[in-house]
Amino acid sequence: MEGSRQVLKFGGTSVGSGEGIRRVASIIRHHLRDGEGMFPVIVVSAMSGVTDQLLRIARFACTGDHESWQQELEALKRKHVEAADKAVYRSEVRRTLQHDLQVPFSMLEQDISAVESGLSGPTEEQADDGHASALALYAASTMSAWGERFSVLLVAAAARDLGVQTAPVREEVIVTADLQADRLPAFGTVIGADPLPQETRVNAGRLIHPLIERGIVPVVPGFIGRTTDGCVTTLGRNGSDYSATLIGAALDCAEVTVYTDVDGVLSADPLIVANTRLIPRLTYAEAARLSWFGAKVLHPRTLIPVAHRNIPVRVRNTFRPHMRGTVVGPALTTRSAAAAITVRGQLALITVENSDLFGAPENAGQVFELAARAGAAPVAICSSSGHHLTFVVEEQAADSVAALLQHDMGSWRVSYRRGLAACACIGSGFTADPMSPARAITALARERIPVITQGASEIGIILMVEESESERALRCLHRDLIAPVIPLVRHEVYERAREARQGATL
Ligand code: ADP
Ligand code: ASP
Ligand code: MG
Repeated sequence: MEGSRQVLKFGGTSVGSGEGIRRVASIIRHHLRDGEGMFPVIVVSAMSGVTDQLLRIARFACTGDHESWQQELEALKRKHVEAADKAVYRSEVRRTLQHDLQVPFSMLEQDISAVESGLSGPTEEQADDGHASALALYAASTMSAWGERFSVLLVAAAARDLGVQTAPVREEVIVTADLQADRLPAFGTVIGADPLPQETRVNAGRLIHPLIERGIVPVVPGFIGRTTDGCVTTLGRNGSDYSATLIGAALDCAEVTVYTDVDGVLSADPLIVANTRLIPRLTYAEAARLSWFGAKVLHPRTLIPVAHRNIPVRVRNTFRPHMRGTVVGPALTTRSAAAAITVRGQLALITVENSDLFGAPENAGQVFELAARAGAAPVAICSSSGHHLTFVVEEQAADSVAALLQHDMGSWRVSYRRGLAACACIGSGFTADPMSPARAITALARERIPVITQGASEIGIILMVEESESERALRCLHRDLIAPVIPLVRHEVYERAREARQGATL
């Protein structure tokens, strides 16, 4: 089939229940009928909570806790079987779906058994930390991949139930590099592998083009990939947004839409701030900055595959599909002051000082190389002078970064402060407007929130504060820079949370 294509990606909350999956199916049908000539390719996440469940199963399997993983597996099966019953009405489609779901569930059980037998594999001397970490790495990647594989079956069946010609793609489309062996994860976490765009393009051509040519809507698992020698990988937590744009670029799509549970990219996280505003347009740079500094609505790598090709990314609400959402695209001529405020927590500030009061710029390369070797490239670089450098890393890496710096740079004094958060005020004209940075600092000063350090660029500033103050800081920055008045119409997320609370007390 000739013509342009678009990727529609549905996140975990969108496919979080049987009713949700049916709603997703009707959005797919709508796009197929009225998609402005763009044939849809669907990318789906696991049902919300499922990746966490799978990672718990991986941990139980690695520690030989047979009973716990069995209980978790039963709960996982129940969740999908119940969702299947609600998502699909026609009995023959439902029967086929229930049958299809058995296959990945028994393959998951085989994976669990493989991990359990890996536990008894090596002799006692071999069963050291290295073996345990390798097993944890294998278990986390292999098992966390199953959630998306279950979802493609549910979504494809629900769309078929509504009369859409569709097919689940059962293989991984994204080809990735191997995971680097020096980056072994803690139990219950996954490490993202680096995608290989050229190989992914070839694979997408092989797996997806033939379906599109026959007018069949492909439903592709997001988040997961495979190395060229066949090992299952993932793109890291929340990585299905990234997989959507990788697949969009590989298929030369005209645009990518990320369907989620909010109206688009908002001026702050609606779970923290009540009167957020929808941002209709953002540049790639603004959106990338926002997600880097904590806006979970897009994975920080989402824009990499599409920005250099000017493929727009829309963010829309599955629960309010009539809303136009946010379009992330090339730079605009108009400039905003602060478009959004975000907060990224669990950070530590590292300061490296030279007692000679000289030489910091000359040694900056070594400092950052050592930080990267300790697994912590800086989240932000805040300040420097002739004899000091201050930068921010994720808190969990602070001890090892500081130890390595101290060890390799003997005459330098290394200190760090944990428990911090970065509040980022982002907008393409932010620092061009002399009042905006001043208003941000004043907003925090008025609330008696100390700014520990700060950093600025042409599209915004970051203010480092104590983590315990970060939500209050976010609210007052939002009030003073973006939305001074609390509107009478409350945000729907709050309405839903309030209704859920009322329901729970009835
Ligand atoms: P999905 O399951 O669709 O991938 P996520 O939970 O990953 O959804 O991302 C959507 C969530 O991102 C929203 O529910 C919201 O709480 C959060 N969020 C944080 N910052 C922002 C922001 N600036 N704009 C919109 N949503 C945001
Ligand atoms: N299912 C994966 C996760 O929970 C990927 C995603 O939903 O984006 O991290
Ligand atoms: Mg997400």
